[in-house]
Amino acid sequence: MNQKPGYFGPYGGQFIPEILKATFDELVAVYQTARQDPSFWAEYLELMQNYSCRPTPVTFAGNLTQKLGGARIYIKREDLNHTGAHKANNVMGQGLLVKRMGKRRVIAETGAGQHGVATATMAAKFGFACTIYMGAVDVARQRPNVFWMEKLGATVVSVTQGSQTLKDAINEAFRDWAGNMDDTHYCMGTACGPHPFPEMVSWFQSIIGTEARVQIEKTAGKLPDRVFACVGGGSNAMGLFSGFLADKAVELVGVEAGGKGLETGHHAARLASKDGRLGIAQGYKTLFLQDEDGQMKETHSVAAGLDYVGVSPILAHLKDQGRVRFEAATDVEVMAAVELLVRNEGIIPALESSHALAQAFKEAPTLSKDQVILVNLSGRGDKDIFTIADAFGDQKWRKFIQEKARGYAGN
Ligand SMILES: *Cc1c(COP(=O)(O)O)cnc(C)c1O
Repeated sequence: MNQKPGYFGPYGGQFIPEILKATFDELVAVYQTARQDPSFWAEYLELMQNYSCRPTPVTFAGNLTQKLGGARIYIKREDLNHTGAHKANNVMGQGLLVKRMGKRRVIAETGAGQHGVATATMAAKFGFACTIYMGAVDVARQRPNVFWMEKLGATVVSVTQGSQTLKDAINEAFRDWAGNMDDTHYCMGTACGPHPFPEMVSWFQSIIGTEARVQIEKTAGKLPDRVFACVGGGSNAMGLFSGFLADKAVELVGVEAGGKGLETGHHAARLASKDGRLGIAQGYKTLFLQDEDGQMKETHSVAAGLDYVGVSPILAHLKDQGRVRFEAATDVEVMAAVELLVRNEGIIPALESSHALAQAFKEAPTLSKDQVILVNLSGRGDKDIFTIADAFGDQKWRKFIQEKARGYAGN
């Protein structure tokens, strides 16, 4: 049976108000034309090379490999991108499409503020006007990011409706778009939302997997046995996985936020837990964390970037197909992974990325020395200084974390 465009199994689609139909059609058209036009990708590659340090390296974590005593561990360094994470890959790509559409203004919503900073950076580079919607609670929590967005020239709108967090900011951003479609592009931050965003964002992020496949073959002498990526909305995972989807022998592992533990209900594991239910919200169909009445649940993660109720429809489908395995790492496991990477490799990982590291560290000792693990380090951890300092500043937590860190190495 032919799938409707924008569907991945039962997931995806485009559930939008009629008024936005024309602007979505325009976006789908410019995206499809760009995909078929080699000069677009060439322009994108040149931009990413000269503005965002691509190709990012693959680093062999030799000290940790020795310490954990199993598979050889390699790390794809998306933390070395401009603005500190893989988000640059997506926003710069969308910026080029905005230029092609002749629009002059971009809007976005942001929770933790990382996507807001990335979008404001792109707008400054391309000379676009920029408005960022952010829940009032998040504005208060993320002062440094708000400061930089404003310095970069963006208007930050503090949303005081509802719970004053990400989902309210999403509603406001869509309202703005409906009123300003002619000159405005909505810059979605992850591989979620209505068609074509899941597919389009994954395409821009595929630069990670395309590079990594060549790099790992060269440096490790073979394809990886297992590949790990953290999953918030799913864009960095889609980016890395896409390089290995066709290699059936490569096992793909997506790691969600286990929060305080799946059994506590305080988590954001839509695919790794049994709590994800099929639903339609925010313009697309996927597994959302919702109760029996369809009410969205509160999510929890120590990493703001993974703290989201929905998940990429493409990943939900890859799970059904058995192509990607989903796991969850708890807040404590994540802090232990931070400790291990910082101390042994001198790399400060983002808390989001540390979910992938935690799962990789759990599994590495169970594999043999000739096996290869590749972990996506989606971003750097400078932004997490206060969260990490708080965790290690609390005696009880520090004890838990350090026990866990020793546990990884089996001692
Ligand atoms: C935003 C963010 C994520 C989560 O987004 P995905 O779309 O799931 O990749 C992961 N890691 C970092 C460092 C982030 O900033």
